[in-house]
Amino acid sequence: MLYSKVRRTGLDLAAEAFWRVPGCFGVARLLGPAYSLRCVVFHHISAEESPFTAGMNVCTAPQRFEAALQFLTTHYTPVRLEDVLAGTDGRNLPSRAVLVTFDDAYASVFEIAAPLCRKYGVPAVYFVNAAFLNNRRLAPDNLVCYVANMKGMDPINAAVRAVKGGEFSPLQSLSEVFSSFFPAITLAEREAFLESLQQLAGVNGSNLAKEAALYLTTGQLRSLASFDFEIGNHTYSHVHCRRLSPAEFGQEIDGNKAELEAHSGRKVRAFSQPYGSSKDLTAELASHLRNSGHEVAFLSESVANLKGTDLFHLDRVNPHVQSDDTFFLDLEVLPRLRAIRNRFFHGAVSQVAGTQPVA
Ligand SMILES: [Zn+2]
Repeated sequence: MLYSKVRRTGLDLAAEAFWRVPGCFGVARLLGPAYSLRCVVFHHISAEESPFTAGMNVCTAPQRFEAALQFLTTHYTPVRLEDVLAGTDGRNLPSRAVLVTFDDAYASVFEIAAPLCRKYGVPAVYFVNAAFLNNRRLAPDNLVCYVANMKGMDPINAAVRAVKGGEFSPLQSLSEVFSSFFPAITLAEREAFLESLQQLAGVNGSNLAKEAALYLTTGQLRSLASFDFEIGNHTYSHVHCRRLSPAEFGQEIDGNKAELEAHSGRKVRAFSQPYGSSKDLTAELASHLRNSGHEVAFLSESVANLKGTDLFHLDRVNPHVQSDDTFFLDLEVLPRLRAIRNRFFHGAVSQVAGTQPVA
């Protein structure tokens, strides 16, 4: 945690210095290969953290989000998904094209983000998990986050032992749950873990979901599917796809798509990978997406999309938007450096900056 704070402070200082360089966009372009499409991902737009999100790095304050839209409309050309589907090699996209997306279907994207996007004329794609619509249950990440914030890590580790015995050494943080434990278990094991966690922590996820009202209602989803807003698939229950069986693809991918199309009245064409990792975008998943009517898939590893990028491997940046200079560094500089790194170290895990949210 300390290393991460020191690293971020260093990046903030670098951002401030870079932003002051005259013609900084042109200088950034010299850093590496042509950056064909910039994509950004936001999650929850909220002035305050709650026990359901504190520690997940998913909140953006409304005034910072509005400033981010002003930054994007000043320096970039926001585009629709339709424009992206027409080609990412740059031939059909305006210069400095940027696509704005939202993951996880927090109600705040309807209440706060969508009106601001309309105000600034910014199209957007909203990726939704149908399991949590109408606040029927808490998303696994929000449930684990709530328990960690209210009761500590002990009930979480007890639930891990209840499902997996002594296979895992005690988890120290939320990020270890999301980056180490969840990707290693099956869908059935995850459901058993969540059930056990609620019992051990003495909480009821369904009641908490109703009280917190964190997520979109189906009525809000229908309203979002208008203007230049697009509804996308984020799996039914927000899962790491690397462990899904073919039958579970049907439930998590096809079932979610069908339910979102029924609610929105629009065709669902885009998929975004929960947790954003390319490790989850397996060959089986990519093939299944192509064969089930999806036309594009997004990750969130904050790497620049170069000319000719595969539409089923488009990356997004999860930016720090506290100021124009940090947004510039996160969107213009670091993704290029990661793209260069990936050219030399195929598939290496990012060490350039820890900007990923856990969701
Ligand atoms: Zn997500």
